Amino acid sequence: MSEIVNRLNQVRPTVSEGVTLVCVSKFHPAEAIMEAYQAGERDFGESRVQELLTKYEALPKDIRWHMIGHLQTNKVRQIVPFIHLIHSIDSEHLLATVNREAGKIGRVVNVLLEVHVAAEDTKSGFSPEELQALVDKLQNATTPLYPNVKICGIMGMATNTDDETEIRRCFRALKSLSDQLAHTIAKGEQQPANILSMGMSSDYRLAIAEGSTMVRIGTTIFGARVY
Ligand SMILES: *Cc1c(COP(=O)(O)O)cnc(C)c1O
Repeated sequence: MSEIVNRLNQVRPTVSEGVTLVCVSKFHPAEAIMEAYQAGERDFGESRVQELLTKYEALPKDIRWHMIGHLQTNKVRQIVPFIHLIHSIDSEHLLATVNREAGKIGRVVNVLLEVHVAAEDTKSGFSPEELQALVDKLQNATTPLYPNVKICGIMGMATNTDDETEIRRCFRALKSLSDQLAHTIAKGEQQPANILSMGMSSDYRLAIAEGSTMVRIGTTIFGARVY
């Protein structure tokens, strides 16, 4: 059995039922993705548009592609036709751009709003206050402001630390925002916006314990990345 399938088989039982596993394949070749694909995985996450496009072209069309890295507005158009979920909406300007490009091709694109609760300033996303302000604005609009995006929930990261208390603090903050917003974001929709994308290789078990519904795992499945 391949190394990747081996590691996948170790990860799977640790991801609770109802939690979506996104295999983060950035910096790993298409062949690595195919091994996980043949073992049954369909959700893959990438962080750079060019790499995502190349892999999209080369790989089976039933893969659900997740954009998890910072997305520049001038690259939105390239991924809008096929992307399954954009996790990294970190500004209203980006949200508006996705809406506009999706509108041009008659698609409704699924997105998550990225929220910043970690201690590092280097991480991007809305502050909890900015998130609340945006949601209020969307709610108070008399006609939908961004009809070609579907806000499905939020994404966030914990502080990069070994301090379990601090990691849990971040995940609890995200979970509480998710609970608050799950029903308001999706006003009028059939489904509540209840996706909570949090947890990566180093901290996904804690994230699941704190209520994650979607984990993004790279290294633990594919091995170390060579940048
Ligand atoms: C790279 C990346 C991951 C996966 O990280 P691993 O530590 O390899 O599991 C998860 N989320 C985001 C946003 C990433 O950029």
